[in-house]
Amino acid sequence: MDQIKIGKFIAEQRKKQALTQAQLAERLNITDRAVSKWETGRAMPDSSIMLLLCEELKITVNDLLHGEVIKMENYNKEMEKQLIEMIKEKEQKDKQLLTLEWVIGVLSVLILLIPIIIAAYLPIEQEWVRMVIVFSGFIPCFAGFFFALKIEQVAGYYKCKHCGHTHVPDFKTVSFSMHMGRTRYIKCPECGKKSWQKKVISKE
Ligand SMILES: [Zn+2]
Repeated sequence: MDQIKIGKFIAEQRKKQALTQAQLAERLNITDRAVSKWETGRAMPDSSIMLLLCEELKITVNDLLHGEVIKMENYNKEMEKQLIEMIKEKEQKDKQLLTLEWVIGVLSVLILLIPIIIAAYLPIEQEWVRMVIVFSGFIPCFAGFFFALKIEQVAGYYKCKHCGHTHVPDFKTVSFSMHMGRTRYIKCPECGKKSWQKKVISKE
């Protein structure tokens, strides 16, 4: 925040409203010294008085904080830019998540298979030791699958084949639906039809 610029802006807008420092101070129920301090950039208006000040000067708080009147068209452009940036960031993150899902999936399978292979080929005397080795991979494997499935639910969207609607289903729907890779047989919340829905990164 540029306090000097904001100060000059306050003075400018005050004069535009044909008010003296004393008149403005009176309307805000403060001393004219305080107004003078703002206008010379030595102090910022208190947040408690900002709304009232902006009302008197016929500006927005956003204008005040920028030290200039922000045009409506720029407002929209700025918001749009922000929005596009956010969408891009989400898409990037979702892509990374889906790669991570793949890695977790492979690791989960390995963690399940490796102990089974070891148990099959190692010359182990006691049968229970063999069983413990065989089952040792089950819990980490299920944990891995659970995380992978959670990622698959939240990253990106599923796209309905009938109406093109994109949506994020709940975890239960994702868990209990038939699937081939990431394509799942689920019901569309928009048109209500069931179809094989592909995973997409972009909403539209
Ligand atoms: Zn649909």
